[in-house]
Amino acid sequence: MKNLPRETTGALEARLARELPGYARRVLDALEDAGHEAWVVGGWVRDALLGVSGHDVDVTTRAPWPEAARVLRAANITVHETGTAHGTVTAVVDGMTVETTTYRVEGGYSDRRHPDEVRFVDDVRADLARRDFTVNAMAFHPARGLLDPYGGRADLVARVIRAVGSPRRRFEEDALRVLRAVRFACRLDATIEPATQEALVACAGELADIAQERIGQELDGILATGRAAWALRHEFAVLEAALPELAPLAGFDQRSPYHAYDVLEHTARVCAGAEEFAGGLPTRALRWAALLHDVAKPACWSVDDSGRGHFFDHPRQGARTLRAVMGRMALPTEVTRAAAALVELHDLPVSATSVSVRSMLAELERRAPGQARPLAFALLDLKRADAVAKAPAFRSYATELDEVGAALRSALAAGPVYRVRDLAVGGEDVLRACGIEPGPGVGMVLEQLFAAVMAGELPNDRATLLAQMRW
Ligand code: ATP
Ligand code: MG
Repeated sequence: MKNLPRETTGALEARLARELPGYARRVLDALEDAGHEAWVVGGWVRDALLGVSGHDVDVTTRAPWPEAARVLRAANITVHETGTAHGTVTAVVDGMTVETTTYRVEGGYSDRRHPDEVRFVDDVRADLARRDFTVNAMAFHPARGLLDPYGGRADLVARVIRAVGSPRRRFEEDALRVLRAVRFACRLDATIEPATQEALVACAGELADIAQERIGQELDGILATGRAAWALRHEFAVLEAALPELAPLAGFDQRSPYHAYDVLEHTARVCAGAEEFAGGLPTRALRWAALLHDVAKPACWSVDDSGRGHFFDHPRQGARTLRAVMGRMALPTEVTRAAAALVELHDLPVSATSVSVRSMLAELERRAPGQARPLAFALLDLKRADAVAKAPAFRSYATELDEVGAALRSALAAGPVYRVRDLAVGGEDVLRACGIEPGPGVGMVLEQLFAAVMAGELPNDRATLLAQMRW
């Protein structure tokens, strides 16, 4: 993350005015020309101050939403009535959307989840006061400049996440903010201000009342920042409240010569390693897999006669837990399937031979059809991260994995067989060559040939395979 540009308020406001996209300017101008105060608010202002462009633009206005919709339409802007119960309409300009919301405050939160009511107000400052963190509670208008009643800009410079108002009350109103605080701390490489941190820990338990889907989105957002390792180390109270399956990892002594850390610190190292080995851009599946690869270790732990710990079947059990977690959080099926395949195979022995890498591809393909190629690289990244997070004496496997990566690349370049349909012969050939009726027998013959090719016993050569069938 770039450092906040050093600039005077005047220079900063001029820069923001320049950088504000034209389509957003049209929405502001349409409202203001009709006499309704309007500001850009939230994420765009925060990111623009940081010098990060491209955030979607949200507008807040004094106009009641039906009036905002009328004025925008009169200016030839398309309007969708997307969230009118909360005062939100979506303006579409040049194919870009701008959420436009009437100034509002939220009423009580008797269920600690949803505001009982929203109340529309006249003062933009009241609207800013309902927002979660100071860095998210700034408004900007090209002519009026930056409105920053809570010191959000100073907190951005200092990289501090601070609740707007009483942290305890704000987290009691909406416990999801607990997880949002961690997400923004990760995203902005920030620390959490002490009173906010204290309230965070005190209120983390209330995440139990929050819809799983919203928790899943925030956790996915934390993983997307690439700083899950930091969150595991510094905000574990919040993470274990959001994802209780993580709780047994803390302090779990593996009693194994392979491991120098408890499962939690090992997991944090694997998350950090996955970022590093995937060049800062791991897939969502790899990030979820890194987080949960050893989640079943405590449950699968046993000690042998010599007092040494073992974790039989933990990859398969871990994949089951991952599917349960990501399923209840309604995360996308494809991501879940890919992540589960990575967890299940994270201890699969692989070596730098064509037979071994093709077998790895086949195992991935079976669990996540169509995703084997990208997942093979992700699996090597996960295994590498796992290796370097072990006790120092067992880290050298990471260099072997470089050779496996090279073998994988050359196998892929050669057009590898790792699915039955990659065979140089098909069902029609079996019918003709073996003279059998269509039915399950055809598949069995193909499976046998496939197994022989996979094992390197036969080449994937049409003439050879046909001859084999006749034989
Ligand atoms: P992101 O890039 O993650 O979307 P954002 O700032 O746009 O960042 P959103 O979750 O889209 O975050 O919310 C937009 C704005 O609405 C926030 O900047 C914040 O001011 C406010 N906000 C969102 N959720 C909450 C909440 N649960 N409590 C208080 N304010 C919130
Ligand atoms: Mg947003």
